[in-house]
Amino acid sequence: MSPALAYNGLALDRVPGRRDAPEWIAAVLARPASRVIPFWRDGCLVRDLAGPRPVVLGAQEAAAVLKHAALCVFLGLDGEAGVFAADLSGLDRAEALTLARATDVLDVRRLVASLDAALASTLALGRGLLRWNREQQFCGACGQPAESERGGVQRRCTGEGCCRLLFPRIEPAVITLVESPGEPRRCLLARHTQSVSGTYALLAGFVEIGESLEDAVRREVAEETGVRIGGVRYLASQAWPFPAGLMVGFRARAVTEAITVDPSELEEARWLGRAELADYLSRHHGRGDSIESFLVSSWLAEGD
Ligand SMILES: [Zn+2]
Repeated sequence: MSPALAYNGLALDRVPGRRDAPEWIAAVLARPASRVIPFWRDGCLVRDLAGPRPVVLGAQEAAAVLKHAALCVFLGLDGEAGVFAADLSGLDRAEALTLARATDVLDVRRLVASLDAALASTLALGRGLLRWNREQQFCGACGQPAESERGGVQRRCTGEGCCRLLFPRIEPAVITLVESPGEPRRCLLARHTQSVSGTYALLAGFVEIGESLEDAVRREVAEETGVRIGGVRYLASQAWPFPAGLMVGFRARAVTEAITVDPSELEEARWLGRAELADYLSRHHGRGDSIESFLVSSWLAEGD
């Protein structure tokens, strides 16, 4: 069974079969039960209702937001109701707050602990899709403007003789819990030079062109720590549109133990047994929304 990871399990029907009809999407937007979620530069516009809550407008009350939005994308259907995300990034912050009758702008990662799973994944999708549309204004091949199509899930170059279709690019990254050879098993953790918190984390990195996920796991671990690994096992993946990621989680078994860190990447790496790791985590609370928490907690739960 898949673990319940934040941002996974979108509950909306993306309706791929009907997106070619802009008039149908417009009719869905006009349905009384449809909803519009305004965003401002990757952030959710929020109101303080005994804690920040993301603004979600009914179709009728969204007219002003839609009028000023640079783009409105169709996220999908919730029953008969359409769910849309509107981009107010072209306005200044105060204007966006006023239009959405919001009190603040907060990233979905700051809100996720107070959101149900369906809303968290919807907000993550809206953030990612609007960001991609904002940053894909032009064709990378010929430099001409590209126009949004199919409710914002693709763009098309307007350049004569080009007309290239542009799709959201996902950037996969691997994150791995590496177990030591021998018993009792320990796991490999590292402190990154770029880490703001200075805490230990699992090894992770982006997949490169021409590389399988398993190859990326082996390369990242070897590059950063000098540890060689043998078997690599896929555990779970997580939608990570911050801005365009897909986190793919693995368990791997090391065949060597000696650590030589790459000083440009890591301050330090070390092996921690389960008791040491549990003690460390009890004193340092990391971000609970990433797949890293699942990889670590499931390993701890297995016991020695
Ligand atoms: Zn083009």
